[in-house]
Amino acid sequence: MNMDENLQRFLRYVQIDTQSDDTSMSVPSQAKELDLSRLLQKELLELGIQSEINEFGILYGRLDGEEDLDPIGLNSHVDTALEITGAGVKPQIIHNYDGGVIHLNEKYSMSPADFPTLGDHVGDDLVVTSGDTLLGADDKAGVAIIMAVLAYYVAHPEVKHHPICFCFTPDEEIGRGPDHFDAKRFGAKYAYTVDGGIYNEIAIETFNAAHADVVIEGVSIHPGEAKGKLVNASSVAFAFDALLPKHKKPELTSGREGFNHLVQVSGTVDSAKLHYIIRNHSREELEIQKKEFEEAAKAIQEQYPTAKVHLTIGDDYRNMGEVFKEHPEAVDKAVEAFRALGYEPVFPPIRGGTDGATFSFKGCPTPNLGTGSYNHHGRFEYLSVKEFNIMIEIVKQIVKA
Ligand SMILES: [Zn+2]
Repeated sequence: MNMDENLQRFLRYVQIDTQSDDTSMSVPSQAKELDLSRLLQKELLELGIQSEINEFGILYGRLDGEEDLDPIGLNSHVDTALEITGAGVKPQIIHNYDGGVIHLNEKYSMSPADFPTLGDHVGDDLVVTSGDTLLGADDKAGVAIIMAVLAYYVAHPEVKHHPICFCFTPDEEIGRGPDHFDAKRFGAKYAYTVDGGIYNEIAIETFNAAHADVVIEGVSIHPGEAKGKLVNASSVAFAFDALLPKHKKPELTSGREGFNHLVQVSGTVDSAKLHYIIRNHSREELEIQKKEFEEAAKAIQEQYPTAKVHLTIGDDYRNMGEVFKEHPEAVDKAVEAFRALGYEPVFPPIRGGTDGATFSFKGCPTPNLGTGSYNHHGRFEYLSVKEFNIMIEIVKQIVKA
């Protein structure tokens, strides 16, 4: 039964260390990311599919199909997150999960009380970590799903399908994944990143993202003779932060509510710096947030006329939902596939970004699909084998003629 073969593939991929590195300036950031890409290239060749790993470490390939149909793209990333090591991954399989506490090792266990999604998988087989590493289902589950779909269509030439363009990218976890993505080279009319959690979510909306840097120059004078003259740049920085709307913070918002997030502070008496990221699904509201930064800067400058307040604001990425308004076919096709198999998809707005957003703005509309994996970026990461197999069926259905 090829169900097992699909799971074997996943288990094989997670045992290869492909952690990317945000301190490295090389492309890809770590040569070891390509250890997986090269294995994929070899496995593809065994399926009779040619592929190319280009100078940026992106593996591109194509499985020909019905040439009068739109070529559909599939993507996932080979690297794993930085929060915890990806070396020495020893996946453990929990057969027929009973809903109780899972002991990963002597030190770490996970229970539905701490991780409520576990309660949805009673009776499933789960793949968990040994407690010492991440699992790397983000995104090797996505890689394994795409490989399973390709293997299926190679084994079943009688089942007609769209031409399938696929690519496996490095450095997604350090935000550089799509930098060198070439939509022309990829060749798909539209595509899917397979890089999410629960199986029935289609992500078609991201934040609009901007950032703000505030630099304060104070007036530094010996504290003994400071009265009426000293302006402490760090205190002015605190005052600036206090002027921003109190409720627009990540810890106080959810769903479609935007936020300003103070991610870095540094300061002395003489000068201080604040770095914020600004997020909102609505572009109009993002503009309002930027205005609030400008107003706060103006007010602070008036309050401390001998200090200097410099504010710079820049845009980072846009909500990919804009692209799907113009090009709904990728979303429609996925919805059709879910329904054909008896599932109803949901569309929660992502409170973050996705490589698909960049692909979409580079000309290849790309919603994101789930992989059936949970608790990414840590030792409690796990895969529901049932949902993983559902996603193989969904992706097969999407590209089916
Ligand atoms: Zn991912």
